[in-house]
Parts: sequence; C-alpha cells; structure tokens
Amino acid sequence: MIIVILLVWLGSAAVCHAIAKSKGHDPLMWGLIGFFLGPLAILFIAIAQEKEGTVGAGETKRCPNCAETIRAEARICRYCNTEFDQAELERQSKEREADALERETRLEEDHQRNLRIVGAVLAFMIGSIALLFIFQ
Ligand SMILES: [Zn+2]
Repeated sequence: MIIVILLVWLGSAAVCHAIAKSKGHDPLMWGLIGFFLGPLAILFIAIAQEKEGTVGAGETKRCPNCAETIRAEARICRYCNTEFDQAELERQSKEREADALERETRLEEDHQRNLRIVGAVLAFMIGSIALLFIFQ
C-alpha cells in the first residue's frame, strides 16, 4: 500500500517536472511541489500559464551585410551602417508576425498534449488507487 502511494507521488513529481519544463517554469521546483502535493500539483501546473518568452522589444535580426546581430526594428546597421529599405523592413516584420503566430499555434498544441498527458496520468492514478481499495 505504502509503496503504491509512494509510486503515485513520485509519478506526480515526474509529470510536474515534465510539464513545467515544457511551459518554461522551473522544473526542479515543480518536481518538488509534485512530490509533496502528489496528483494535485499536476492540476496546478496544468492550469498554470506559459511563461512569456523574450518576444517583442528584445527581438533581433542578422545584418545581411556584416552578419552582426542587431535590433529587429533597426533601419541602419550599427556595425556597418548598411541601410535597410522600408519594403525589406516590412517584409521582415510580416515574417516575424508569421513566426509569432506559428509559435502560438505550437504552444497551443503543446498545451493540448499536456492536458491529454495529465488526463491519462490522473486516470491511471485514480484507477490504481481505486483498485487498491477494492482488493484490499
Ligand atoms: Zn551590418
């Protein structure tokens, strides 16, 4: 009995660790929370928000002339003074938007997959606990 409970709690820690990692949260901390709270922690991390990446102001691009990394909005390269024309800038900006959209879609897919994993793990845990009580 004790061993099964321990396994369930360790399983929770592992699942929390994995989900936290995929969401950009601290996997070690969530692994510990999973170990102490058990299946409950899985629910917490499952509904926790994705941590925002450094998207937006910090975006960079590579200068086609000198290959240095510069700010995405830059019109003139600060290393080699290459000027980027407006049409090119707009094209790049559209590309970035498409990238962001793609990233969002991927995050949503990750989220759906996480929810399925959590559902399966919870069902397994509840099932094994139920079986234990039935066959005790
Ligand atoms: Zn340059």
